[in-house]
Amino acid sequence: MMQQSAYDRFRNTFESAHGKQQPSPFSRLLSGQTNLQTINNSLLFWQDHADSHKPLLDNIKQWMVNEVDPERIENEAQVPASYLQGLRTSGCLSAKIPQQYGGLGVSQITFSKLLERIGSYSEVLALIVSVQQLGVAQGLLSAQKLESESSRAQGERQRQKYLKQLAQNSIGAFCLTTPETGSDPSRLQTIARLSQDQHSFELSGNNQLGGKLYATLGTIANLYIMLAVVLYHHENIDDIEPRQRITAFIVDKACAGISIQALDFCGWHGLPNAAITLNKVVISQENQLGEIGDGLKIAFMNLGSGRINIASISLGMMKQLSRISRWWGVERIQGGKPIGEHELNTQQLLKMNASVYATESFLQFVSALADQPDTDIRLEAAILKLFSSHALVDVADETLQLRGGRGYESYASQRRRGDHAVPVERLFRSARMMKIGEGGSNILQLYIMRCLLNDFLNKYRTLQQGKNRRWRQYLALLPSAIRFIGDYLSPYANTQLITAKQLRRHSQYIIKTTRAYKKLIMIQFAGEYFCYLTQLATHYMQGQSTKAIRKPDQSFEQRQVFLGLCSQIAMYLSIMSVTCLRAQNKAEPKAMELADEFCIQAREKIELFFIQIKNHSRQREAMVKIRGMDTLNHQYADALEQNILAFELRGIKPNKD
Ligand SMILES: Cc1cc2nc3c(=O)[nH]c(=O)nc-3n(C[C@H](O)[C@H](O)[C@H](O)COP(=O)(O)OP(=O)(O)OC[C@H]3O[C@@H](n4cnc5c(N)ncnc54)[C@H](O)[C@@H]3O)c2cc1C
Repeated sequence: MMQQSAYDRFRNTFESAHGKQQPSPFSRLLSGQTNLQTINNSLLFWQDHADSHKPLLDNIKQWMVNEVDPERIENEAQVPASYLQGLRTSGCLSAKIPQQYGGLGVSQITFSKLLERIGSYSEVLALIVSVQQLGVAQGLLSAQKLESESSRAQGERQRQKYLKQLAQNSIGAFCLTTPETGSDPSRLQTIARLSQDQHSFELSGNNQLGGKLYATLGTIANLYIMLAVVLYHHENIDDIEPRQRITAFIVDKACAGISIQALDFCGWHGLPNAAITLNKVVISQENQLGEIGDGLKIAFMNLGSGRINIASISLGMMKQLSRISRWWGVERIQGGKPIGEHELNTQQLLKMNASVYATESFLQFVSALADQPDTDIRLEAAILKLFSSHALVDVADETLQLRGGRGYESYASQRRRGDHAVPVERLFRSARMMKIGEGGSNILQLYIMRCLLNDFLNKYRTLQQGKNRRWRQYLALLPSAIRFIGDYLSPYANTQLITAKQLRRHSQYIIKTTRAYKKLIMIQFAGEYFCYLTQLATHYMQGQSTKAIRKPDQSFEQRQVFLGLCSQIAMYLSIMSVTCLRAQNKAEPKAMELADEFCIQAREKIELFFIQIKNHSRQREAMVKIRGMDTLNHQYADALEQNILAFELRGIKPNKD
């Protein structure tokens, strides 16, 4: 069997998640068709629907303030049964399950508001509500979109059975991660061996290979969606391409052979989370979700909603933290005046305001987009998750700094001293996870660029793969290049939509910078193409094989530093547009000031990214590669790691001294 390169695996995994949905507004950034009117419509849709299910939101507020003590979860490192029951009674654990299956059937807009509200008070309870929806319920609903005529009846049976159970009294967990796979699930090693009569599967995986890791709700769930690689009788996993066989299964905790081990983390104390080993767990074919090989598609479809949920919880936490900062900025007097009035701190407070307002704006836009049927939200959800998680970590860090020693001190310790206790330290620890779960930041940056470049690179590849003669292949980029020049002239449609006097200059900046951005990307790609041609010519003249030469699209997609910086420019440009539109719709002076503040800060960052790209020349890129390899080969260890009592690290030799 032909071995795929890691690059191809990554690309195919990404492609497998692409459905036939409507392209989203920002996926057209590079093809010059981002339409501000579409974006504005989503924001207006949010406004119109923000108050639906108000009783649910009111009840949860009432219940949390009266009954829930987030510090109890923290101190006891577990969620009291009464809290879970409260979430159940209020409808939170079945909020997004469609009404026909016994849930409340709320929209993503309401769900985002619900998570924000719960997350502002107890991040642990908010994550439980989020994962209850994502774990099994969303998997069942995503699988529905992939159903064929032949699999529809089985799918409906599963939904009738399991969605109703989840709406009534079950808890569900989603189990993709294993010890060997995290960001790249295409190499998954959980085995689902099909029985000879094809009526059942035997699931296996242990703590070293294939067992499930980090399953949120894993300790309290009674239903799981597990992803595993289907093997036919006598087949060996090394002989197949696992990605094509990754399949989702609904597994009941009551099955024999399941062992669960509770895990705990730097933050999120009390969050139910587990490592799960599977010792020949037999499940019926009836529990296979979708077709064999649909597993990653289902997982990726879940990721969109998961990322919106993470952003909603982050927003709740961020609002709470920035409020604490504002309070302490006035309350604490040092150097003769409130610390918030010292300019360095004032600047930080403004940054927090801007981050909160921009996160909320983009969250409103993406949540409303998710409520439009058949719209591909993956790019926007990735931008939202990347931005909100970083904004949260920054806000948590700055709040902790502003609180000084009290910021670093635990809530319990502050209380023991009789101080006015505030749990900044807890929120700071929990915030950090947001950059890891539902797609780590590095992966998201690459993913954003993959989405943005998808159309262009796919067209390019199609042309390259055509049965053209060689010389024509070299010119294959021409049609795309010509189209690009046309698109380059019109980076946004309906830009006149941002008319507010205070924000107009930002609108002009967005147009100008989008052009510069597109030009930059195309020049870099052309450079890649030129290098490719030069290498081809050199090899050809020297009579060497050209097979090993990396194609321009492949080498382009591997320039991670460049792509990472580009993804952040796209992120800030997108968020600026949405934030300006939202402020303008609100037509309040303070909203306009917040949008203006965000744009000022975003523009500073964008300019810095352009400088960083310029400085990251090919020469610098080569140097980073060489020095990076030296680092990984421990070449600098002697110079850097003298005089430490080193921890034991598998595979690393002890230091010389
Ligand atoms: C609190 C918590 C709850 C979780 N809940 C669940 C759950 O319910 N279900 C579930 O299935 N999983 C869950 N996870 C797992 C989570 O999704 C993974 O931790 C995450 O996908 C990262 O995988 P990893 O930990 O194996 O890191 P790795 O994939 O090993 O990545 C390590 C680092 O390398 C970077 N990296 C990886 N690949 C690349 C690349 N190609 N290029 C550049 N950088 C790269 C990553 O961004 C990361 O910073 C949870 C994790 C936590 C911490």
